[in-house]
Amino acid sequence: MMGSMHRCVPILLLLLSTAIACSSAQAAWLSRGVDGIMGTRIYVELWAEDDEKARGEQAIDAVMDEMRHVDETMSVYKPTSEISKVNDQAAKGPVRISPELFKLLTTALEYSRITEGAFDITYASVGYMYDFRERKRPTEEQIRSALPAVNYRHVLLDSAAGTVRFSQPGVRIDLGGIAKGWAVDRGIEILQQRGYTHALVNAGGDSRVIGDRFGRPWVIGIRHPDHPEQVITRVPLVDSAFSTSGDYERYFDEDGKRYHHIIDPRTGHSASKVRSATVIAPTATRTDGLSKTAFVLGPDEALRIYNALPDVDAVLVAPDGRILYTKGLAPADGTPASGAPAVSAAPAAPAH
Ligand code: ADP
Ligand code: MG
Repeated sequence: MMGSMHRCVPILLLLLSTAIACSSAQAAWLSRGVDGIMGTRIYVELWAEDDEKARGEQAIDAVMDEMRHVDETMSVYKPTSEISKVNDQAAKGPVRISPELFKLLTTALEYSRITEGAFDITYASVGYMYDFRERKRPTEEQIRSALPAVNYRHVLLDSAAGTVRFSQPGVRIDLGGIAKGWAVDRGIEILQQRGYTHALVNAGGDSRVIGDRFGRPWVIGIRHPDHPEQVITRVPLVDSAFSTSGDYERYFDEDGKRYHHIIDPRTGHSASKVRSATVIAPTATRTDGLSKTAFVLGPDEALRIYNALPDVDAVLVAPDGRILYTKGLAPADGTPASGAPAVSAAPAAPAH
């Protein structure tokens, strides 16, 4: 779903055009962006040798097809999707689902446990009453009566039967907080199976790269929450995934208050303890599953959770503009550290 506030590129991918130093003169980066899949733009880039360009285009086709497939299966905005069927029927009894959806639901519940309930796909039991494009939000009374249905423990999976059931009426789930990361990982797998060793797949706020850009890292720029063109810090990446969540993605402002698309499962209100959170980890499912946490729990609790996960790093922008880092990226003297394994942050302009 696209909000009325146009979704400015959540992260700025700063692609280094001068990095192509080796390989034959004819080899090239192939890239393609396609709008309107999973409510966003899908962008794929890969390195193809000269005689392999047709094969490269086919690989990009295959990634786009997979993205459309995930969208068809996992979108609550498509009445015919498997997830819509689950929302219609699972409170009445067990619903048989595809192994793919079963696996994603299992993963989503894992992230609820890891994030101590901050990530919760049943947020949708209240969340469905928000429409950020229409500037619509539920009343306090509506939130109060729907809130008991928000709890990931209401989602009961039976692996022997391959079914899902909701423990009570009123429960709804929405995979908007993890399906894009999941889809990016499926896209990356397709490219890996075809032998690509330098590639990028991006879906809205979620991205993953294979390899580097020939001796140089891929570089992501983390944007200022209020100024889309302003980069507040840069992070080089090799063989990693990253997700950025921001309160500027889908929102409306009313009476000085911002209503936006990340919902605190405990209150049913927008979660505003940070302005943006960028998470870096090996897979995009992981980064997507973790990037909402800081909004709900706040920077201190989120950093405690992220720092306890050895393969996770994060950059948070606090409401007052401070930039906070996990241990792996933490600045020793006011400038972000360098030399961290796989990722390291470069100095940046202050946020405000
Ligand atoms: P993007 O859609 O750009 O990838 P995010 O990764 O930040 O953005 O995901 C935001 C989406 O996550 C919301 O639009 C909504 O579908 C879903 N969501 C909102 N609150 C929660 C929550 N507490 N737990 C899980 N998913 C959530
Ligand atoms: Mg995301």
